[in-house]
Amino acid sequence: MKDRKSILVTGGAGFLGSHLCDRLIAAGHDVICVDNFFTGTKRNIEHLIGHSRFELVRHDVTFPLYIEVDQIYNLACPASPIHYQHDPVQTTKTSVHGAINMLGLAKRLKCRILQASTSEVYGDPSQHPQKGTYWGNVNPIGPRSCYDEGKRCAETLFFDYHRQHKLEIKVMRIFNTYGPRMHPNDGRVVSNFIVQALRNEPITIYGDGQQTRSFCYCDDLVEGMIRLMNTPADITGPINIGNPGEFTIRQLAERVIALTGSNSKLIQNPLPTDDPKQRQPDITLARKHLDWQPTIQLDEGLKKTIAYFDAFLKEPA
Ligand code: NAD
Ligand code: UDP
Repeated sequence: MKDRKSILVTGGAGFLGSHLCDRLIAAGHDVICVDNFFTGTKRNIEHLIGHSRFELVRHDVTFPLYIEVDQIYNLACPASPIHYQHDPVQTTKTSVHGAINMLGLAKRLKCRILQASTSEVYGDPSQHPQKGTYWGNVNPIGPRSCYDEGKRCAETLFFDYHRQHKLEIKVMRIFNTYGPRMHPNDGRVVSNFIVQALRNEPITIYGDGQQTRSFCYCDDLVEGMIRLMNTPADITGPINIGNPGEFTIRQLAERVIALTGSNSKLIQNPLPTDDPKQRQPDITLARKHLDWQPTIQLDEGLKKTIAYFDAFLKEPA
């Protein structure tokens, strides 16, 4: 293949990383997947193990890594609140030391590097929808701060390496993304509701369920990520990638019940501290620079995700 590259995906055994590895292998590239399996699993990538262009390395990105590649996608970091709050110090280290190590690697190799940043850099936003130019409204000392501020500091490092060392960077702000291979116990709303509905257990709405999120299906997200990586050098981001379709959490619960035919009832649990009230991406820049917009709307994506969890829950333990 003319454009065949050797590509590093950190966090490659996780939910989004594994879909990215699939796409890059299918496109004919060599992929090195680096993961410490904190939230990712071999199961997510087991179909790639043994493939001649796929390599799996168990490694923690908070330690330096010496390999040779042409591009780096930096996804390593737990993404769900219960996982990133489990060991908050390690979460900040993963974002910050991980960014320093991967940026150092990119600097030595003079290669492009993409950062999987997050809509959490906007905190509980006072601007709606959120544009890439918005600076955010983040609590620096709350339970979500290890993730939010870690990701913000990583963005700072990316832009300083760009200005100081002329590194080619791509910063992508990912909004809530869902799909097959989400961890069934990671506590994120889509996986929680689907697993609860399939088991006919109560659906746990936190707060009154009027808070909103905009849900992007994983295939759309990965398409946007690959397009961003391959933009001209002057496109650095930050660029929002997400689906602007905005739903209340209660509406999401109702869609999941309708699509699973579940008998589950809705119950209300306390709202977690600093839970953002609304979130919707402004994707003007992604449309302009990547010619990208999501193609899979909520019901279609939910059906695919429900089919995945249905099969997953029927597997012998
Ligand atoms: P995930 O938890 O499934 O994947 C993260 C992966 O990183 C896992 O495989 C985990 O084992 C690995 N990892 C964690 N710490 C590591 C370390 N120190 N060294 C090496 N590997 C490590 O989460 P995801 O949803 O696939 O998220 C992937 C990336 O996208 C994350 O950086 C996350 O912050 C970002 N993101 C995701 C979403 C979303 O809605 N899914 C939204 C915003 C941002
Ligand atoms: N949420 C909920 N019930 C659940 C899990 C989450 O009502 O069982 C809510 C949560 O309080 C938040 C929204 O769903 O308002 C999205 O939560 P998630 O953890 O998926 O992502 P994030 O808050 O990081 O956007």
